[in-house]
Parts: sequence; C-alpha cells; structure tokens
Amino acid sequence: MRNNFTIKGASLVLTLEPSIGLGKLGLSRDLDIRIEDGLIVEVGKNLPGSKDETLDASGKIVMPGFVDCHDHLWQTLIRGCGLDQGLSGWLEECVFAVARAGLSRNDVYHAVRLGSFGLIETGVTTVLDWSHAFDENFVEANLSALSDSGLRFGYGFYCQNNPERYLRAQEIKDMVDGDIFALLHICAHPAIESIEELANTFSVAEKLDLSFDVHLLESPEQIDQKPFEALQKSGAVNFRLLADHVVHLSSEEIQLLGTSSARITHNPLSNMRLGSGVAKLPEMKESGLAMGLGLDGGTNDFPDFFTNMKMAVGLQRARSNSASVFPSTQDALWLATMGGANVLKLQDKIGSLKAGKFADLIFINPTSMNFGPDWNWVDQIVFSGQPQAVTEVIVAGNFLKRNGALVDTDVSKTVKKVNNSALELKERLKLV
Ligand SMILES: [Zn+2]
Repeated sequence: MRNNFTIKGASLVLTLEPSIGLGKLGLSRDLDIRIEDGLIVEVGKNLPGSKDETLDASGKIVMPGFVDCHDHLWQTLIRGCGLDQGLSGWLEECVFAVARAGLSRNDVYHAVRLGSFGLIETGVTTVLDWSHAFDENFVEANLSALSDSGLRFGYGFYCQNNPERYLRAQEIKDMVDGDIFALLHICAHPAIESIEELANTFSVAEKLDLSFDVHLLESPEQIDQKPFEALQKSGAVNFRLLADHVVHLSSEEIQLLGTSSARITHNPLSNMRLGSGVAKLPEMKESGLAMGLGLDGGTNDFPDFFTNMKMAVGLQRARSNSASVFPSTQDALWLATMGGANVLKLQDKIGSLKAGKFADLIFINPTSMNFGPDWNWVDQIVFSGQPQAVTEVIVAGNFLKRNGALVDTDVSKTVKKVNNSALELKERLKLV
C-alpha cells in the first residue's frame, strides 16, 4: 500500500472544495478518498477499496496539508538566538554574524533537515524555503536537504546581484523544471539605494519566467529605505511579485499591490517575536490581494502551524477590538491551504482534496488531550490544534508521518549534529 490506497471512515473531511461538501471549506462527514500514483483520483461516498488498499481514518479529521509560503529552514541552526532583539538587531546578531563566520555544507544540510522535521510534525506538506544562500556549498546543501525531506518545496534563491548567481539560477531552474516536488523563486531585498541591483535581479526572474520573492516593509525602520518605490521603479510590482510580511504598507501601497495581481505572505508568529507590528490583513483582503501564511524560519522558534493560524486570527482581533474581523478561524484554515496554494501558483495541484490534485493531506486526531470534545471541530483545529494531534502526513501518496511518528527519521541524531554545529558556531562567534 505505497501509493495506491483509499482513505475510508474519516469522521470529518475538509476538502477545501465548496463543490464537494458544505461551505467554503467543503465539509463532509462521510467521504472516501482514492489515491493512485501520488494523485487523488476520486473523492466520494462509499468508494470501493480492497482490504489491502484501505487506510482506516476512523475518528480522524482529514484535510489538505498546510502550505508554508515563507520560511528559512537553515535558521533552525540559530533557533534561540537574539530572543530580545527586533528585526535589525536580530539580523545583525544572528544572520549577518553567521554569514561572516561561514557555514559548512553539513551545518546547512542538517539544520534544513531538522527544520523540515518540524514542518512535517505540524502537518506542513509544502514549503517555500527562502534561502539566504551564502555560498555555493550552502545552495547545494540546502537543495539536497529539501530534496531528501520528502516535502513539496519551493527554493527561494537569493541572487545577491551576482552575475554568476544569475547563471546558477538558470541551472537550478533546469534542474527543478518538471520535478513534481520542486519549484524555484528568485529572491531579493528591495531598497531605493540598491535599485540597480533590484532591477537586475527582477530581470532574471522575468527572463526565467519565475516569481520574484522579497521581504517588504517588515519593520518600521525599513520605511526610510523606500522599498516599495524601489520595486515600482524596477517594474516589479506585478503578477510576479510575492511580498513577505508587508506589515508597514500604506493604504495607497495596499491598493497598488491589490490591483497588480501581486501576492503576499503573512507571518504572525515572526512579527510578534520581533515586535515588528501587525499586518493590516482586513484592508489587504479588501484590496483583493492573494495571501497565504508563513512560519518565517528561526524567528518563530518551533514551527507550529496551528499557533501560526491562531495568531493570524488573534492579532487582528486584538488590533480591532472585534472578534468578527477577518480572518475568522475558517478564513485561517483557507489561508493555510488554498490561500497558500494560490500564493505559490500551485492552486491546480495542491491546497484542496479533489480528483487530479496531488495527494498531499494530513490526519488530525480530534480526541487528543487538548482538542476534544466535539463542540466545533473546525474552529478547534485553529484554536486547539497542536502538532502532536497530527497523526498522518502524506505528500504525493508517500507517508512522512504515520501513526503519530515521523517515518524513516532519526530525529535525535540530527538534533545532535545541529547542536554540534551551533556550538562550533558560537565558539567562532566568540559567544562562549
Ligand atoms: Zn523571512
């Protein structure tokens, strides 16, 4: 029963397809899902399935896996660094210092692997890994670890305005083209003083026909760098643009983004940790912007997608003194699945459970200690869900987590390797 099986008996299925089930989350209490060769081939009631090919989901909630639209998996290595720093202090202490000290291939590989374990544990099935790509060793190790993770992934390649990097981008694109698990984004940091570099990098994204993925106005101190103006003058405010954080956009900039077919990621845990502010999600929704959720790497510490959804809901309630503001719990579940699929332009392949899409899905145990009783399971996924409640994680029909445990994974060995890397790094940085 590797890639061909029928999921039967789930207590609740969230298809995220309004045409299959109730409401925009497509809720149904008696749906079966047939999977063949990594694809969903049928969703319906009472599907036939031999005993050998039946996966019993009795008592479980079945839904699409979460789409993490913005992350930096290498930063698992610096988890716990700069806990009381804002963005610029954290970058200086934990990212730029590490870049200067340098990382080995092993440092990067095992950190990304450990980061991917955390994602699988919490039910993420697709991640966009925005890679700082300090050097070629970093790039190779990062790609190798993502490939070994079993996750569906996007590799965000930070080009550093280096012509050699532009050629490398072409090579990586050739490598991932046609790979059902991988895609490539071109990444940059927009600022008015480096507008020429920005325009050069954007032209690479255009030439390769790829998304252009940037951190944008994450903290108030970036307003003086006029990053939005730099993007406009580079011709980059259009359908290629994927802007991360966008906490300090003006109302006018929100409108401009909304009419440009750009997309954004919201990273509430990271924004809270760094004291960056609260993104204006209701205004962005109103403008028509496509949006998804991201965990954003080391700044959010343990990657918990349930808490990320809860904070996406909670921050707006706290900001507006209203419990009915966007996003609702159902909105958060949509953002975490179909919203993320739209943002990565994978809406035809992932994000919902219907025939023709990849079999990327998770099981949640609603009888776990902090989840039950059955009062309103859909809301409870957001407010009471925890990574431990995820019992199965399936990507393209392959099990990455089964019966509550990661498959073929020696977590303690990897933790040990990352710990050794971190200790050596701290010595080189003279922090010990
Ligand atoms: Zn980021």
